[in-house]
Amino acid sequence: MVQPGSTIGILGGGQLGRMMALAGRNMGYRFVVLDPTEDSPCGQVADNQITASFSDMEAARQLALLSDVVTYEFENVDAQIAAQLERDSFVPQGSELLRITQHRVREKSTLTSAGVPIAPFQVIQSEKDLQKAISVLGLPSVVKTATGGYDGKGQWVIRNEKQIPLAFQEAAKTGLELIVEQFILFEKELSVVIARNLQGEVKAFPAGENIHIGNILHQTVVPARISKEQAKRAEEIAFKIADALQVVGLIAVEMFLTTDGDILVNELAPRPHNSGHYTMEACVTSQFEQHIRAICGLPLGDPSLLTPVVMVNILGEHLDFVMEKVQQLPNTAKLHLYGKAESREKRKMGHINFLAPSVEKALQQIDQMQIWNHPEERNHG
Ligand code: AMP
Repeated sequence: MVQPGSTIGILGGGQLGRMMALAGRNMGYRFVVLDPTEDSPCGQVADNQITASFSDMEAARQLALLSDVVTYEFENVDAQIAAQLERDSFVPQGSELLRITQHRVREKSTLTSAGVPIAPFQVIQSEKDLQKAISVLGLPSVVKTATGGYDGKGQWVIRNEKQIPLAFQEAAKTGLELIVEQFILFEKELSVVIARNLQGEVKAFPAGENIHIGNILHQTVVPARISKEQAKRAEEIAFKIADALQVVGLIAVEMFLTTDGDILVNELAPRPHNSGHYTMEACVTSQFEQHIRAICGLPLGDPSLLTPVVMVNILGEHLDFVMEKVQQLPNTAKLHLYGKAESREKRKMGHINFLAPSVEKALQQIDQMQIWNHPEERNHG
């Protein structure tokens, strides 16, 4: 067990690291963070920041030497850096989980071997491969880079045959490995954040219903507006994954609830997740506290939901409206800002958890704030 009072090193100084450090400080842990940006969101609340590139081996070594345990807030950690950290420090999440979740093909093969349903896909290397794959998968389909994609970057939806050549050309420009995947007609997108600690104890947070605008998470609604059986199935899938991958720490499982009522896994993230921010005030234990408990080998906290909640993201374009209206927020709305120096369109600047007697009431409160329902905002959807 890593005792409270020990130092936790975080690779990455963004908002996920910041909220991890805020939760961990309450528990008595100290924090050191490695990030290339001076005064990073996490650096502002940590004991110490090492300002250096993520590929700087010496900086990674320094982080490891200062830390009793090391974790990360993003999955695209360089393999050599991960190896360096593992040599000089305790990295309970291990590098295997990173290796799998960094690469869509490895991730999908692992899920399939674990008996977890996913969208049908094929690896492609040429336009001809893409043509052939689409004749099996059908249209629409979506080409994705195997590595490096997030918030819809590195994705090209193909709706008719004429779009195939251009989609391939654009995707090939990245120089990355490519896959094509059947486009799933979904009723809802769901996610389950689940924790497994050093001793193998596993606990899942309630499934969230995720609403994206322009491929970026906009809202998470909890409880998700799905049947009890569907919620149970989503949770079962998450348990299966945590077990099969021998996860330590958190893993977020993003899923599609299809129009046929099936649940397919889309993607995994081996860290706290934007769709788990609702847990900060709405659950007995937040995802950030749970992550720290898991990697430090403490017993996991109770993940039960205390109240219905809707989490809504504050992107750069929302920030001025939020500041103007901060006094009008209901007194059960919990504002979190990440301390980013520069506000840009589409950049995640903060979020608000609207706690309410029902999710309908929370959605109504959000609507009344008139922050997220500007016409230009709707057009992005
Ligand atoms: P990803 O980067 O794979 O999480 O994809 C980002 C978003 O694109 C998802 O949350 C979905 O809204 C959408 N998307 C990705 N893959 C598919 C798919 N196969 N079918 C339908 N929508 C998809």
